[in-house]
Amino acid sequence: MSSIFAKIIRREIPSEILLENEHVIAIKDINPVAPIHILIITKKQIPSIQELADEDSFLLHEVTKAAKALAKKLNLSHYRLLTNCGEDAGQTVFHLHFHLISGRVLEGMA
Ligand code: AMP
Repeated sequence: MSSIFAKIIRREIPSEILLENEHVIAIKDINPVAPIHILIITKKQIPSIQELADEDSFLLHEVTKAAKALAKKLNLSHYRLLTNCGEDAGQTVFHLHFHLISGRVLEGMA
């Protein structure tokens, strides 16, 4: 089944794209929890990090490279990079993505 992020990748749903390459796309989160809230999404539709196969582990490097590039581009002094894995962790879209959050002082983890 096609996720909402797959539709964004195929341009079937509009989004604000900040970075895109062969492996990942970075968009502004529609419901930001901080002044900077970006989603770094793998183009391959993997439900969550728990299903990441060994042969796809390079995608984690692609995500961190994208995060570093965005931090540089947006001149971020600090940021939090996280992924929710499973409904009880707060995952709502089952297509692997990482939240890059910044733009304010970030309080402690839940
Ligand atoms: P998670 O709850 O970790 O699965 O994160 C899903 C994120 O996707 C949430 O922060 C939502 O606000 C965000 N989101 C859902 N639909 C869209 C959309 N159409 N464009 C941008 N962000 C979205």
